Order: sequence, then structure tokens, then C-alpha cells
Amino acid sequence: MISVTKTFLPPIAEYTAQLERAWNKNWITNRGELIEELEEKLKSYLSLSNIIITTNGTIPLQIALKLLGEKGEIITTPFSYVATSAAIVWENCTPIFVDIHPNFLTIDETKIETAITEKTTAILATHVFGNPCAVEKIEKIATKHNLKVIYDGAHAFGVSYKNRSLLSFGTVSTCSFHATKIFHTGEGGAMITNDTALYEKLFYSHNFGHKDYIEFSGLGINGKASELQATMGLSVLPHFPHILEERKKIIKRYTDFLNFSKYRTFELRPETQWNYSYYPIIFETEELLVSTLRKLNEQQIFPRRYFYPSLNTIDYTKGNVMPISESIASRIACLPLYVGLTPEEQDQIISILNSL
Ligand SMILES: *Cc1c(COP(=O)(O)O)cnc(C)c1O
Repeated sequence: MISVTKTFLPPIAEYTAQLERAWNKNWITNRGELIEELEEKLKSYLSLSNIIITTNGTIPLQIALKLLGEKGEIITTPFSYVATSAAIVWENCTPIFVDIHPNFLTIDETKIETAITEKTTAILATHVFGNPCAVEKIEKIATKHNLKVIYDGAHAFGVSYKNRSLLSFGTVSTCSFHATKIFHTGEGGAMITNDTALYEKLFYSHNFGHKDYIEFSGLGINGKASELQATMGLSVLPHFPHILEERKKIIKRYTDFLNFSKYRTFELRPETQWNYSYYPIIFETEELLVSTLRKLNEQQIFPRRYFYPSLNTIDYTKGNVMPISESIASRIACLPLYVGLTPEEQDQIISILNSL
């Protein structure tokens, strides 16, 4: 069976070597030395001024919205994973959708200003498939209207835009280290900010509000990642350059050999050093997508419909009609892409797509 993705697992000896460190200290959570070491390594690897590792990639969205959203209207993208919209509603804010750019698939920044009202507090946009949002233009709009910017960077690990880590943009940026993501800790995530005062708030918020054992800096929740999550991260990280190389080769084979007659892929924003995180195919029609998926499934090949449905159509978001997002969401699927996918397996996929 060929699935859309396959979790990268390091050699088990490397994993158990990290695990032994936790065993030897008899310390498996509450910000031990392994989480601190992983934070240091990620800071340096990604050239970030700080990073707080969290237990998944959704809680940092919730924490950021709790601190910055003020229960107001959040301008957001309808084309993302459901966590982006769900976090807004969960934190008692109101999602206000703005349609996406048909080629970049990120929020269309030219449509943001008309959606701003006196209730707007923040913009929450997703770097879809690791493709950067129009970060400079969004920053300009946010500054003009005094709004916070939160980036759902769940797909943005390892991406640079204009030679700067994509995760360093925005008031807060988040990441996901879920097992299906390009870098992972099994379950995990992170939040990043360049604002030191905000960093302190994010930090205590993810640890019950603790200032120390007896004092509290404010309201908090439990967003901590465990030492067991850190062991996975510490043993996957040394392989990350290899992961990128392998994925790059797979994507090159798709782009070299697919004929793009009845489908296309997305357009990468210029000046982006990408992370090869997803390979989406946008078909001419939903019928063609569905019939192609059926053909692939018959051969035990299982692409995934990322992202479907358009988030404005989920009942609890109460979104307005978003023609571009709804159209693309109904016609898009991500092709299998993981370390270990063989050229022969890829050619099987390519030949089905080229026969449409
Ligand atoms: C995976 C994902 C999330 C959620 O991350 P978890 O670590 O699974 O909580 C949020 N947003 C996007 C765009 C994602 O793809």
C-alpha cells in the first residue's frame, strides 16, 4: 500500500540512546534537559531568536489566540487544516474568511482590508504546503490597522523566505511536529515570536501560568511537550537534511514526468527556499479528481484530499461563500511523498495521472 505519507523513523538505536538519557535521570516531562536541548538545536538550525516546543501544533494556535485575539474577529483563510478555524471558534473568537490566491493557495492579501471591521483583532493565515503568505504586505496591513498577525506555520518547518526563516514572521508563528509532518516528535508543535515580552507570556501560558513553584504570572494551560517527545525530535533532527534531499528528488520526478494536461500544481512564491513538504495536484474538475482517486485506490495508492472541505463551509464557522477556496478544495489532492517512496512506485502513480 502506498499512502500519502509515511512517518520518518530514525534508526531505533538512535532513538533509544536518547531515551536512555531520560531513563538515567528518571525524568520524563516538565521541561527536562531533552526538551531544552531540542529547543536550542531548533533555534540554531532554524535561526530563530526563540522557540517554545508544545505538545501539539494546535495548542500554540489556541494560546496565541487567547493572548492576542481578545474574542474579536479573526481574519483567516478558508484553505487550511480544520485546526486553524477550530482554534478560532474554540477561543471564542469569530472567523472572518478571506478567499485565497488561486495559484499560491495562501490568503489573498488584496482582499484582507475590506474584511476589517472595528471588531477585528488579528489575522491568522496559513503558509499552505510551506508556501509563504505575502508576509510583507500582510505586515503592512496589520500595522496600518493595529492588528496582530498569527501564522499557522504547521507546514513551514525549514522554509526560508528571502533568506529568513519563515517561522520568524508575524507576531506569533506556530508549527506542528505531528508524525505526518516533515519534522516530527510523534505529536508536537511549537510557537515562535520575536517579541521578548510576548515570549514570556507564551511561555508561562503553556505551563499553567507558572512563574515558579509558588507564584503565577497569569492564566495558563498545559501545553508542555514531554521528554519522550523530545527524544523523537532529537533523533529525527540529524536526519533532516537527508529528509529534504530525498523529498526534493521525489518532487523532481513528479515535475519532470507528469504531463500536467488535466491538472496543475501550486505556484511557489518567489524567493522561497522550500521544504518539499507536500505535492498537491489540482484537477480540472472534482469529477476528474474523484475518478482518478478511484483508479489510484484500485492500485492500493492513497493520496489525500488536502484540504477538503473549504473551512468556510463547516457549519460552526458560519463562513461566507469563498468561490476560489471552495473550488480548489473540491479539486485538490496531495500525492504520496515520503522518504522511501521508490521511483517504481512513483512511476506507477505518474502513469495513471498521465493517462487521464
Ligand atoms: C497539522 C496541522 C495543524 C495541527 O497540528 P497538530 O500538531 O496535529 O495539532 C494545524 N494547522 C495545519 C495547517 C496543519 O496541517
